[in-house]
Amino acid sequence: MRRNRNAKIIATLGPATETEESIRALFEAGADVFRLNFSHGEHADHKARMDTIRKIEADFQRPIAVLMDLQGPKLRVGVFGNGPVQLDEGKEFVLDLDSSAGDSTRCNLPHPEIFKVLQIGADLLLDDGKIRLRVVSCDDNSARTEVIVGGKLSDRKGVNVPDCILPISPLTEKDRKDLEFGLSIGADWVALSFVQTPEDVQEALELVAGRAKVLSKLEKPAAITHLSKIVELSDAVMVARGDLGVELPPEQVPSIQKRIVRNCRMYGKPVVIATQMLESMIQAPTPTRAETTDIATAVYDGVDAVMLSAETAAGKYPQEAVSIMNRIIETVEQDPHYLELVDKAEPIRQTRAADAIAAAMRQVASVMDVAAIVTYSDSGATALRAAMERPHSRIMCFTSFERTARMLGLVWGLHARTSVPINSVESMVEMACDLAVEEDFCKAGEAIVITAGMPFGEPGRTNLLRIARIPE
Ligand code: PGA
Ligand code: MN
Repeated sequence: MRRNRNAKIIATLGPATETEESIRALFEAGADVFRLNFSHGEHADHKARMDTIRKIEADFQRPIAVLMDLQGPKLRVGVFGNGPVQLDEGKEFVLDLDSSAGDSTRCNLPHPEIFKVLQIGADLLLDDGKIRLRVVSCDDNSARTEVIVGGKLSDRKGVNVPDCILPISPLTEKDRKDLEFGLSIGADWVALSFVQTPEDVQEALELVAGRAKVLSKLEKPAAITHLSKIVELSDAVMVARGDLGVELPPEQVPSIQKRIVRNCRMYGKPVVIATQMLESMIQAPTPTRAETTDIATAVYDGVDAVMLSAETAAGKYPQEAVSIMNRIIETVEQDPHYLELVDKAEPIRQTRAADAIAAAMRQVASVMDVAAIVTYSDSGATALRAAMERPHSRIMCFTSFERTARMLGLVWGLHARTSVPINSVESMVEMACDLAVEEDFCKAGEAIVITAGMPFGEPGRTNLLRIARIPE
């Protein structure tokens, strides 16, 4: 079972994709990574999804990456008693600390710290900025607002307060509990929401302590100010366009997206584009032309992954959304100009053997007709290094560790699987040839490029490049 593309697909699970059958359908349609969104659902729900993912993984014999997404200090309204409510322009709507179910006149906003800093005239943006409320009066427990832009409001929608600086820690008590739980059930990646400073990333790295990789979601103006340092510290980065486009004017999002992608490509950090990629497919079975072009643009920029949120978590057409995303990526990657455009960004190479080998491997793959690149990599570092070069052939990674194989599912061009450790150059070549054929990457007579480190089994030693031909 293999994919015919470099860019990966992340699908968020939720009420629309609760059953084993529906999660399996997403995987078959092309999802490489499943996102467990800890902003919604109970621990038991996430555990059930994780169990289902691991079952599918075992059935298909393909490692699947799981990204747990921490809510972070995201402000949200409470719940409504009788489904979504309609807020009409010009009407009054009250937000308060009363945890009882809301209606069309009031709802719970369970964040005392907001009421402390809110001022008359400040705007509250709800549901990714779709609804705008303006504060008419407020005290320590509630705020009376006028609906400036109305709309439908449902349970636990997000609230942004761009006019106020909120004194909130980047990792809430809930996040810390969720983190321990998510790691205990085997999450491969941890996404940090609302990162503002390099210190936020540092703190998370210390808490995670090597048990998973850490992905920083860039969705606050402050994070953009500290971009290079955050990219350097993080294992991967997400352009979280939903909150970013609420915290900042939406017209700034495209340039910031390009800047983040360029920075990540330069430093060889995986980068994910997220939010509203196929928003219209929450309701409709086909995407808008603007949406297909948005996905294609990200793929031409050489991003590692594109993500679906509500489209697969709560939409009417989850499987169709993954399927069209898969087709868009495959089609773009078959365009003869695709690699030319991806090549426009080059990584910064360090003066060390691993970087030189990866650059040489890329060169070999562009001069010769190479069916596949094979990296032996226990930690995944060599595989990541190879992907950073965006070579003109697919990259296979053989690793002794299942968690490495899973983690690499989020990364551009990588097809990872576990294998037994190698102990000689002969066995390295033989196994690479056998597995490359077994995984359907090449046929007899075709060439492959192999990278590994000697002595075998010692980490951080990539120093070997070998060209081999699959025996006839
Ligand atoms: P969210 O993050 O879906 O957790 O809010 C993504 C975004 O803000 O774009
Ligand atoms: Mn967000």
